[in-house]
Amino acid sequence: MLRRGSALVIPTTMRAVVFRAPNEVAVDNVPTPQLEAGHALVRVRASMVCATDQKILAGKFPMTRFPHVPGHEFAGEIVLSETGDWPAGTRVGVEVHVGCGTCDRCREGMYTLCLNYGKRETGHAHIGFTIAGGLAEYALVPVAALHVLPDGVSFEEGAWTDNLGVALWSLERGRLAGGEHVVLIGSGAIGLCAAQLARALGAGRVTLVGRGERLRRAKDLADEVVDSAEAARLTGTADLVVEFAGTAEAARQAIAMARRGGRVVLGGSTGAGVELSGVDLSTIVRGNLDVLGSLANPKGVSSRGLELLAQKKVDVARLITHRFPLVVFEEAWRTFTERREGAIRVMLQP
Ligand SMILES: [Zn+2]
Ligand SMILES: [Zn+2]
Repeated sequence: MLRRGSALVIPTTMRAVVFRAPNEVAVDNVPTPQLEAGHALVRVRASMVCATDQKILAGKFPMTRFPHVPGHEFAGEIVLSETGDWPAGTRVGVEVHVGCGTCDRCREGMYTLCLNYGKRETGHAHIGFTIAGGLAEYALVPVAALHVLPDGVSFEEGAWTDNLGVALWSLERGRLAGGEHVVLIGSGAIGLCAAQLARALGAGRVTLVGRGERLRRAKDLADEVVDSAEAARLTGTADLVVEFAGTAEAARQAIAMARRGGRVVLGGSTGAGVELSGVDLSTIVRGNLDVLGSLANPKGVSSRGLELLAQKKVDVARLITHRFPLVVFEEAWRTFTERREGAIRVMLQP
């Protein structure tokens, strides 16, 4: 049986990556999602995996129920929606947090901190986490998560909608001012987006701290790259330090690198279970530091990220190191998780 959208014939089943149980993954045929109120059905054209998917597969997100269709970095085109606001054929990118819209945090625009997290009946959704995501041919997406892709932004670039928001929000958290020295810790995809965005926002000097092949590839994205083993030489130098490495060691380094009166934004360890020890509190107190956490991308910041992308202020295409059809997901997954050939982002084409 086929359902007819205004532009395309939609099959009743689709191929999707399915996390069947913790540490068990397959590409399966599953029912194509049915349109629901407040949602649009998106034909996924470009979809990526990231380290968070590894945590989901390992069963580290208690709110994820198996079997689960993952995928939270994707773009595609609308095939069905219930309102005229999102006509078929509209090219969209997706941000992943959708708040309930009525709790105190949502009302202040911080829907990433929604007090009704995981409660689907309130309207909350965390796409690819608490609801099915975009590592599939089709995804049912709450319209609140959709961003129209600017002209000239491809589907592959649009798959970075959420990542760009994450990176941009961290810099906004850190109140980056023109001409400042910014240190970014972490040479993964988000760190490399943030390095470019820091330049776009007028940073005076951008230092990227990381390691290995990924750092070497990124040399021209910063004014200076420093191997994390040599990071001690940056102690006390930065106006703003933004950390996306996700380790306690990186957080300690970040706090040490800030100049007195500087700001530190910690954005890497978004899951529970990483403790910070070995920090002399006087560094923070007597240093008068702002040490800030940064989670995801609230307040629609992704749309500003897409604008900078459209203006070519940030290049995400170069961070896509590998491409695979969705059906060979396991090969793509190994390439990413084993960081083969310095893999940064692996693009799946459903
Ligand atoms: Zn991600
Ligand atoms: Zn809420």
